[in-house]
Amino acid sequence: MDFTQILGHENIIKNLQNAIENGKVSHSYLFEGEESMGKKMVALSFAKTLLCKEEKLEPCNNCNSCLKFDNFNHPDLKLIEPEKDLIKKEEIDKVIKNINIAPLESNRRIIIINDSDKIGMEGQNTLLKTLEEPPSYINIILITSNSNKIIPTILSRCERIKFYPVESEKIENLLISRYNKTRDEAKFIVHFTKGSVGQAIELSQSQDFFNKRDETLEIIHNIVKGDKYKAFDSYDFFLNNKENYEEILDIMIYWFRDLIIYKELGNTELLLNRDKISLLSSQVFLKENQINDIIKKIINVKQDIQRNVNYQLAIETMLLSMQEV
Ligand SMILES: [Zn+2]
Repeated sequence: MDFTQILGHENIIKNLQNAIENGKVSHSYLFEGEESMGKKMVALSFAKTLLCKEEKLEPCNNCNSCLKFDNFNHPDLKLIEPEKDLIKKEEIDKVIKNINIAPLESNRRIIIINDSDKIGMEGQNTLLKTLEEPPSYINIILITSNSNKIIPTILSRCERIKFYPVESEKIENLLISRYNKTRDEAKFIVHFTKGSVGQAIELSQSQDFFNKRDETLEIIHNIVKGDKYKAFDSYDFFLNNKENYEEILDIMIYWFRDLIIYKELGNTELLLNRDKISLLSSQVFLKENQINDIIKKIINVKQDIQRNVNYQLAIETMLLSMQEV
C-alpha cells in the first residue's frame, strides 16, 4: 500500500507530502469526511511513509520498516478500530500508558484511531491529555465520519483535514478498468454508493448485490403489471433479505425516480439504471402521481422499519399499497 494506489484526494496527499518535506508534520491530525472515501488508506500510506527508513515522500516498499508495515506487525504503528461500535476506554488507557515507550524500529511512533468518534466521553478526555503534550516522536491520526461527536478541545488540538467525495468519473473508470464493469453498470454503482470508493469497489465485486437488484426489479415489475399472486409471493424475498432491507428499498426508490425522469425526458444521462432501459420503458404506463405515491410509501416504510415498526407488517402494507395505486 502507498499513495499511488489511492484514488483521488490529490491535494490532501500533496499537502501531507509537503509537510514531510518541510519538516512540518503535525503531532495530531483529524481526518474527517463521509464513510469509506479513503481516509484510512491515506492515513496508513502517510504512516508508512513516515516510518520508512528511506525518509522520502513515498514509502520505498523494500526496507525492513515497509515490510513489517505491510505484514501488519510494525512495532511503531498502533491502529485502533472500534469493536461492536465502541472504542473502549481501556483501549485508550493502554495507548496512553505506553506513550513514553520510545520507537523501536523508526524515528516515530504512529497511532491511528479509526472511527474515533466511537470513543466514549471518558476515553476522549484521557486522549485529550496526551494531545496536549505528546512526546516528540508521537504522531496521532484520528479518523472520523462524525466529527460532531468529538469534544471541541480535541478538535482544536488537531490539524483538521477534510476529505471530499472522489469525482464520479474517476471511480467509474476504476470500476471499468479494474473490476470489468460496463460504463452503465459503473455509473449505477457510483451513484448508488454516493461517491464512496470503498463501497463502490465492494459492490462491484458482489455478484450477490446484482442478483438482489435483479430480483428486486422483477418484483417491482410483477407488482406494477398487476400480478397479485406473484406480488404476494415476493414477501419471502424481503423476509430472506431482512438484513439488507435498506439497500433493497433504496434500489426501489432509485428505480421509481428513474421512471419519472424517463417519462419526462426519455433516455437520458441522468438515469441511474441506464443498463435496464428496456425494463424501465415497459413501465411508462404508470402515471406520475402514481409513481410519486409509490416513492413516498417506500420512504415511509424505510423510516418505519428504522423506528422498529414490525418488519413483516411494514413490508406487507407497502407491497399491498403498491398494487393499489
Ligand atoms: Zn521503506
